[in-house]
Amino acid sequence: MKPPDGYPPEEGRYVRGNDYSPVAVCVILDTFDFAIPFELTQLVMAGADTGAALSGMLQTENIGLEKIVCNIVANPNLRYVVLCGRESSGHLPGESLLALKLNGVDDGKRIIGSKALTPQLSNIPVELVDRFRKQIVNVVNLLCRPGERDVKSPGLDPEVITEAVKSCYQEAPVVFQGYTLYDMGAYPEPAIFHKIASKLAQPLQAVEPGKSKMGAGLVLSRLLPGTNCRECGRKTCLAFAIDLARGKACLERCPILDEAEFTENRKALAGLLEQGTKDHGKY
Ligand code: SF4
Repeated sequence: MKPPDGYPPEEGRYVRGNDYSPVAVCVILDTFDFAIPFELTQLVMAGADTGAALSGMLQTENIGLEKIVCNIVANPNLRYVVLCGRESSGHLPGESLLALKLNGVDDGKRIIGSKALTPQLSNIPVELVDRFRKQIVNVVNLLCRPGERDVKSPGLDPEVITEAVKSCYQEAPVVFQGYTLYDMGAYPEPAIFHKIASKLAQPLQAVEPGKSKMGAGLVLSRLLPGTNCRECGRKTCLAFAIDLARGKACLERCPILDEAEFTENRKALAGLLEQGTKDHGKY
């Protein structure tokens, strides 16, 4: 099945390979963008070279996972995700991906069973999550524990990733690390094309003149990384967002927004702040 025009809808730190392949490779990135370890890059390349449809890195348990869901449901050929690298003890994105497949999200769009700080998929409809869970038949879990350095561990070994990817597109079932894998054909429903950025770029209609800065902060906070890492000097992303709304902070104080996966969020935030300044003198 040919994916729709515009596929994959979300940008990110991934390589696009064979669109007709049934497998995507997801390598957990457990460091900052500017210090990506060579062994993780090798895993991404092993996936791409072996014929994965998408092979890339996942850093966060919220926006990062939302983008993965969008890109997967936009290509019904994708039926497996190979999860590898080592878990990031800060974000727990690997555990959150597994919990998402297993349990889905609750009424507040929080991933059920995830122990991450903010496993909240607020920017995508629940229908996308449901479709993702049905379309992906298995997340092949090769994830290593946080801090693992042994590159011969299965989840850090490019040869094992190569074997995992190959197993997913065999015509006859193959048993790989306890999983039965084969190319079962595309999911029998049309692609769903959903782009998070289109929503993020909407003007800040939720906050009108006279409404509280807290309300504006809540809207802005939805676009922040949600890690509460405190690098901006505030205890939470919401506190930073409220200061943004008050004109007491600037986007440059959040270094996480400089990471590739937040490019669209950063643009949207800048647009909203500019709009707020025009409308209210200061936002
Ligand atoms: S620097 Fe501040 S706004 Fe940015 S992710 Fe960390 S806590 Fe959130």
